[in-house]
Amino acid sequence: MNYHPILKSVFGFDTLRPSQIPVIDSILSHSDTLAIMPTGGGKSLCYQLPALMFDGVTVVISPLIALMIDQVAALRKNGVPACYINSSQSEGEQREFMDQIRGGDIKILYVSPEKVLSGGGVFLDFLASLQVSLFAIDESHCVSQWGHDFRPEYAQLGVIKRRFPHVPLIALTATADKLTRDDIIDRLGIEGCNIYISSFDRPNIRYTVAAKDDGYTQLQNFVNTWTGESGIVYCLSRKSTEEVAKKLTSFGIPARAFHAGLSTETKQETYDDFMQDRLQVVVATIAFGMGIDKPDVRFVVHWNLPKTIENYYQETGRAGRDGLQSEAFLLFDAGDSVMLRSFIQKGSKPAHFQTKESQIFDKIQYDKLDRLIDFCQTGQCRRRVLLQYFEERRDKDCGNCDCCLNPKDTIDGLIIAQKIISAIARTGERFGANYILDVLIGADNEKITQNKHNELPTFGVGKDKSKKEWSSYINQLIGIGLIEVVYDGFIKTLALNEESKKVLSGYIDVNLIEYVEVVKAEKQVRVVHQNTDLSASENKLFEKLRTIRTGLAAQEKVPTFLIFSNATLVDMAQKQPKTFDEFGEVSGVGKQKQAKYWKEFVRAFER
Ligand code: ADP
Ligand code: ZN
Repeated sequence: MNYHPILKSVFGFDTLRPSQIPVIDSILSHSDTLAIMPTGGGKSLCYQLPALMFDGVTVVISPLIALMIDQVAALRKNGVPACYINSSQSEGEQREFMDQIRGGDIKILYVSPEKVLSGGGVFLDFLASLQVSLFAIDESHCVSQWGHDFRPEYAQLGVIKRRFPHVPLIALTATADKLTRDDIIDRLGIEGCNIYISSFDRPNIRYTVAAKDDGYTQLQNFVNTWTGESGIVYCLSRKSTEEVAKKLTSFGIPARAFHAGLSTETKQETYDDFMQDRLQVVVATIAFGMGIDKPDVRFVVHWNLPKTIENYYQETGRAGRDGLQSEAFLLFDAGDSVMLRSFIQKGSKPAHFQTKESQIFDKIQYDKLDRLIDFCQTGQCRRRVLLQYFEERRDKDCGNCDCCLNPKDTIDGLIIAQKIISAIARTGERFGANYILDVLIGADNEKITQNKHNELPTFGVGKDKSKKEWSSYINQLIGIGLIEVVYDGFIKTLALNEESKKVLSGYIDVNLIEYVEVVKAEKQVRVVHQNTDLSASENKLFEKLRTIRTGLAAQEKVPTFLIFSNATLVDMAQKQPKTFDEFGEVSGVGKQKQAKYWKEFVRAFER
């Protein structure tokens, strides 16, 4: 079957991406398929294109209502009859759509897993009365208890294959290790399916991790390199989203907080402003899918530590889905890991777990957190470490992460570690990092004098280094497990463990990354970003096109990317179409949008 005509006339693309081809071929041959593709890999097209080539209706099961709404809107903009049915609609609305589907007016139907399973099989009966050509299960890692977003309803979706054994099913996800992958196949009952795993690499994302010392300044410097470009800052708590948003605003950067505690109206307004490019930065809690569907998010900042590398990768993956240059910036504070550990301990586990399974579950979560911390503290190419985690081997460094761009020197840190550990030991393991730092540098601190700790032999042994420098080494020691942080409510104290004793007796190698002044180092390398593929004059045109797009998005009250993606605007700035036909040649311009928008955009190229 030749898909090129539909690819061009509906989606406006000339070619499929190499990773999409085998997946689409597999579906077109009516085989069950598991496709693992990174965010931005172009998963939607993998089922949308076959959906338009098959007779009948394609049913897409998707867990996120916001995502469904946007996908349907995007399809409709391209002239595809699509709709969704979920709990956000009234029963009347749902019935209306069901009538349309029965009448054969709909090619692609989006539903939530809850809806599919609702009414004790009533909805499945409805589907059985139609000609269903394909089932697509998006975010399918949710069926697995090993995945990071386990949803009990998802686990029951095996019923689909039992009920519709002859309809091809495609499961798609951006994250799945071997364990999760096998679990997805097992639970969905698609044994023997074709499996396609695309490279996980996101070459357009630059990974940067910095030790958080003067966090706000670091954040400000970073965001300022992305003038006017959309970004997300992820925080662990609602309170910190508020604080960070306030700080950014005070720096003159348009930012707002986004979390579950806000009213529906406030959330909607923030969401719309972000999607329509009136708000530059959203500071959100991780629980929220904010930004999932905005393809031109240029940067993702982790103000706090994510829980696992999977989480980190998925969250940073929200940057640069349009394939253009983007950046992931993590501010590393070892103290966060302690908070996350206590979350794991108290955290919810699948209800059916017995004690033993529960312990294994916790152990896996702790191990995953450790792997993330190793990633943060590595001096190696970060992309290699990340890809290695997903079992993808690379022989070369990437040249597009902070470790590649600013190779770090490691030093023999035994004596440094001994000084720190001895300061913690001699003060009785009762104090936090700040106090220990003051002891090391011999600071004039009233509390230290009261405690007579200024009389200790360790007092002032670290005069040769700055407080920041010592702080970095303390963080590194925590990261490699040579000292511990004990968290009691919000009070953090430093303590020793078995490994610390080995350090004191000198039985262990301690390699530390040599401290460089972070802010200074960043100032040296940070430059304001520009569209690398465009010349200066094309860049001007790009900005002009962007303004036209923002205006149209506001008029139509839709996200800017529903009009055109940045990638399309870049292509347009290069091709500079002056006629209706030339406009149709631009990548991402299908028939529907060609007719609707050519006049508005072509005007940008008139003198
Ligand atoms: P995912 O769901 O895997 O995160 P999407 O389906 O949202 O990714 O696609 C990401 C971006 O790539 C979208 O902007 C989409 O329009 C674009 N895209 C997908 N397939 C192609 C293609 N064959 N050619 C050009 N752009 C594509
Ligand atoms: Zn690298």
